[in-house]
Amino acid sequence: MRNQIVAIDGPAGAGKSTVARRVAQRLGYCRVDTGAIYRTVALLAQEQALSGEAEIAELAAALPLSFEDERVCVGDRDVSRAIREPEISQAASVVSAMPKVRTALLELQRRIARDHPDGAVMEGRDIGTVVFPDAEVKVFLTASVVERARRRHEELAERGVPQSLAAVQAEIEERDARDRSRAAAPLLRAEDAVEVDTTGKTVDAVVEEIVALVALK
Ligand code: C5P
Repeated sequence: MRNQIVAIDGPAGAGKSTVARRVAQRLGYCRVDTGAIYRTVALLAQEQALSGEAEIAELAAALPLSFEDERVCVGDRDVSRAIREPEISQAASVVSAMPKVRTALLELQRRIARDHPDGAVMEGRDIGTVVFPDAEVKVFLTASVVERARRRHEELAERGVPQSLAAVQAEIEERDARDRSRAAAPLLRAEDAVEVDTTGKTVDAVVEEIVALVALK
């Protein structure tokens, strides 16, 4: 069987992780959360007090990262929780604007996706445009900024990271603006991606919509 790639790109809080997880379960594919990779680089760069592009790219190129079920590990260390801190969201968006860092992570992302014999559901910002421009299925997931902020606020509260709704909205607006305006692989809908607006839709409905797109291939 061929290794099929389903690319799911879109702004922060559009529902990519939840939807990608469910679509991957339905198809028997692996799910690759590429944001977690940029977050891990940001976390380690911060811990090692690195700020220059060349040194962060060097760190990214030698990243001993692995995904184990829902856990993200660097060597033996589980960084799953640490990379979800709001501070790391912003730091990830800063390191991900560095072209050398993006180049250093390209092969790693492709290798992780190709590792799974059946296929991969990959979520990120540039999967359909840069990482896998030939992906069989490309989805650009969106939602209104108010809805995205509400979802992210709920998710943070559930994890015991309370933040005001206004602060969460400001955080995702700042991050999206940086992700959209950067020169290297900006957040952008691929010409051949299907835009799915999740505002007011249930997760089930969105999952069905994407599984139907895969079935057409
Ligand atoms: O998806 P998530 O919100 O966890 O991603 C964190 C940050 O990592 C994003 O705001 C973006 O700056 C960066 N990112 C990226 N390209 C990807 C995935 C994430 O630039 N493919």
